[in-house]
This record gives sequence, structure tokens and C-alpha cells, in this order.
Amino acid sequence: MGSPENPSFTLMESLPPEPYRIKMVEPIRLPSREEREEVLKKASYNVFRIPAEHVFIDLLTDSGTGAMSHFQWSALLRGDESYAGAQSWYRLREILQELTGKAWIFPVHQGRAAERILMNAFPVRGKVFVSNGFFDTTRANLLLRGAHPIDCPSPARPSSDHPDLEVGPPPFPGDLDLATTRQILMRTPPEQRGAILLTLTSNTYGGVPVSFHNIQQARALADAFHLPLWMDIARLAENCWFIARYEHPEKTPYQIAREICRMADVLLMSAKKDGLVNIGGFLALDDPTLAEQCRRELIAGEGFTDYGGLAGRDLEALAVGLQESFDFQYLSTRIAQVRFLASLLEEAGLPVLKPIGGHAVYVDAGKLYQDQIPPEHLPASVLTAFFYLAGGIRVSDLGTLAFGKLQNNQIVQPAPAEVVRLALPRRVYTESHLRYVGRIAREITQTLPPWKGFRIVDAPDVLAHFTARLEPLI
Ligand SMILES: *Cc1c(COP(=O)(O)O)cnc(C)c1O
Repeated sequence: MGSPENPSFTLMESLPPEPYRIKMVEPIRLPSREEREEVLKKASYNVFRIPAEHVFIDLLTDSGTGAMSHFQWSALLRGDESYAGAQSWYRLREILQELTGKAWIFPVHQGRAAERILMNAFPVRGKVFVSNGFFDTTRANLLLRGAHPIDCPSPARPSSDHPDLEVGPPPFPGDLDLATTRQILMRTPPEQRGAILLTLTSNTYGGVPVSFHNIQQARALADAFHLPLWMDIARLAENCWFIARYEHPEKTPYQIAREICRMADVLLMSAKKDGLVNIGGFLALDDPTLAEQCRRELIAGEGFTDYGGLAGRDLEALAVGLQESFDFQYLSTRIAQVRFLASLLEEAGLPVLKPIGGHAVYVDAGKLYQDQIPPEHLPASVLTAFFYLAGGIRVSDLGTLAFGKLQNNQIVQPAPAEVVRLALPRRVYTESHLRYVGRIAREITQTLPPWKGFRIVDAPDVLAHFTARLEPLI
């Protein structure tokens, strides 16, 4: 897996040519301006409510939206759909054991199923969990079970004031703040300490990587407090590319990944990201007692241990996808695409969060509209809707609707930041698509938004961004 040695990095100045070519196409269409106005209105200004056929460039998420290779498509055909002992399962298990070194591997239909299983199996109630950045569902799964998740991101996390687009040598912006973590653990009584969880890369704080050094230190800290170290490895390959690029150029991303996995007690993976599949995930661990609990949870809620919630063909696609995801050329192209998009958006005048991570560009809508739209009027939602209106581009609103406190359709507390995310699906869009997004971004910065802000018509109190209905202020 991966290339035997890292090729030169001079490619990073521009966009390297994609190490694949197109063999099947899916037509996409840009609706007219009038249609887009109509679609937005019908969707109550929430892009989650827009039927995908009306979207031209879809940057809502990189989750499950990637393109599979012809190796993956052909592997689907040899999917063994036996309930127990399917060959597809043995093939996947071998690849996962080689990568993770873990004795127990449980396939699941997606990442949050692994979270649910682990957190039902491990006594989390009343305990403190510390992370460089909990993903929303990880946090929700802990909160639902009465645990206390605490984010401890590095103080160097991305911001629009940061001078460089590029990550650079360690410390990495996705690192866990070790000193604060230690303080939190010190003031927590031993019986209330749960685990340290590292999210690779840190999706919550810009998709930025965690350094190898920081992972080692986190392991040592967990040992000092006799705590397990859990890792959420949804974007392990991308994280390892940054380590190979800036910290350990003598190693391949795959070699690094193997070492990282062996530092964890528990691994959780949503394979819809770096697994290069449209559905899938797994949970991997060594502790036989915990494994027995997880096995029971898996069978009760997800499926038998040999397939999780997946079809045999899904297991095949994942086995192939995981290997492809560590390819150095593929990763270099992907991460260069993300950086290229960021540079276009920045040139267009959007305040992007820097340095740039591995899967998405994050824009500070609060800063862009600081003189026009106060947080109560949802600047991130306005920018999100504007991307669709101006160019049929769907991005994701990670502002107050997603992270603010709402009650009865009122904003009790705005989110700490009004962020909009442009996530790049893997192997899907080309340079000209990205340039188009850059052109639309310029249009957006050169005109005032057509709305003074939005008002919530109705929204649930939690995770409002998925279903909220909005209406423009007049
Ligand atoms: C997507 C994601 C998850 C959850 O996985 P799903 O497959 O969406 O259920 C967990 N952690 C991180 C970091 C993620 O990006």
C-alpha cells in the first residue's frame, strides 16, 4: 500500500494532474437564476432541503460522496452475500488487521454506529472525555449517555488571521492541547476519568491534522492517568499525508497509519471518508472484555459480526478503497485540490480559515458580513444560501443553526463562530469545477447579499441546520 518512497513535493506549487481518468460520467446541470430563486424559496432557504438534481456543484459534505475506482466497482461483483463467514468479510478483516493490528474488528454501516456500540459497551456515564475536537455525533453519543465531552483543541487552531495557507512543520493545528488536558484530568477524580479521544483529522476545527509527536504525547498522557486512548480515524489517510509531508518524510502515509493505529486502544472509523466508499465503517480494539460487550451490542443493533450493517459487496468495496486511500499521489492531488480551492476563495476576498486541512475549506461568514449581518440574523446561513443563488453551489452552514443554542425557534445564544464549509468529495470534481467555484466566490464578495439576514420560521432545538425553515428579513 502507498508508494515505496515519497515523490518530490514540488507539485504542491500548482495543482498536480489527477492520477486517474474519467470512465463514467454523471451529468450535472446548472439551473437558471430564476429556477435557483424558486428552488431556494421552496427549500425555505435551507440547502439541506434542496433536491440534489437542482444542485450544480455539491460541496455539502465529503461523506459518502466520493467516486469509486474501477477496481472497487469490479470488487462489488465478487461480494459474498453469505450471512456468516463470507469471503468478503475475511478479505476485509485481513486488510483491517494489517492496518490496525487490532485483535477485534467489527464492521458497521457508518461511523456513528461504531460510536453507539462503543459507548453502550464502555461505562461512560458521569465520566469526563477529552478530545482535540469531538465530531458532532461523537459528542451527541456521549452527552446522550450522561458523559462530559470536553474539547481541548490546540490554541494554534485555524483562523482567518493566520498568515499561511499551508500547514507547515509540527506542532500541527489539529493537535490536542496537552497542558490543558492534563489540568482537566488532574482536577477530575480518578473514577470520573473516561478516555482521551483523538480525532484525525480534526473535522470540528477545520479538518487540520494532528502531528505524530502529539499522538505520542497523548498516548503517554493517557498512560500516566491509566486511561484508554481512543481514536476517531475517519480521515486517517489524509492526516498521515500531512505527517509524511511535514514531519516524517522518510515514511509513507500507510507506514505512519500502521504506527498510529498501534498507539490506540480503540479505533472508530467512518469509512465514508477515507475508506473511499459510499457507506461503511468499523470499530477495532484489543481488550477482550470490551470486545465481548461490543459484540453483543453489534449483534443486537447492527447485524452479525461478519457483516455489521453492510452487504458483502460493501465489504469488498471498502477493502479496496482503504488501500487506495493511502496512495501518495492520490492524497497529494486531493489535498492540493483543497488548498487550490482555498487560494481561489481567498483571492476572491473571502476570509478563509488557515492553515488549510485535508478535506474542506472553511469560510468565516461572521467576518465577511460583520458590518451587515449580526449573528442573530444568521450570517452563515445567508452566505450558504448566497452560494446556491449565485452559482448553484451547495455548501454547508456550520454557524448558529448548527452550533448555537435555540429554544422555540428563538436564538438563545449564537454559535462561537459563523462558519461555512466547502467540503470536497473525493475524486469527483476537476480543476475547472474549482475555478468555477472561485468565480462565484468573487461574485459573492463583489455584491451585497440579497437578504439582510434570515429569521427562523421553525427549527428543532438541536441540530437545527438539517431541517430548519428560514425566511428572509425585510
Ligand atoms: C463523519 C464522521 C463521523 C460519523 O460518521 P458517519 O459515517 O457519518 O456516521 C465521526 N467522526 C468524524 C470525524 C466524522 O467526520
